[in-house]
Amino acid sequence: MSTLEDAQAAADVARAVVDRELERLRTELARARNRVTALHAPVQHMGQTWCSECSVRRSTGPTTDEWVALIPHPCPTIDAFSEQAPDTVITDGH
Ligand SMILES: [Zn+2]
Repeated sequence: MSTLEDAQAAADVARAVVDRELERLRTELARARNRVTALHAPVQHMGQTWCSECSVRRSTGPTTDEWVALIPHPCPTIDAFSEQAPDTVITDGH
């Protein structure tokens, strides 16, 4: 085996490791995003859509509550998770 073939084989092994890790991280990120999205769910109140998690309600009886703080949905938490980070461009130097 030539040195070039050795280098290519090593690069292929490294690439496979990186690809697996990238896939794992993408899955982890998707799960985290799903958890946040489920937690910060939209709720209708007074004809508008609010974040159920960020808005604050105070119980005023067994079945009644009062809205103390109204945070529009999508809330800043959802916005932060939704922001599209610029794609990282990986170049091989060529
Ligand atoms: Zn929220």
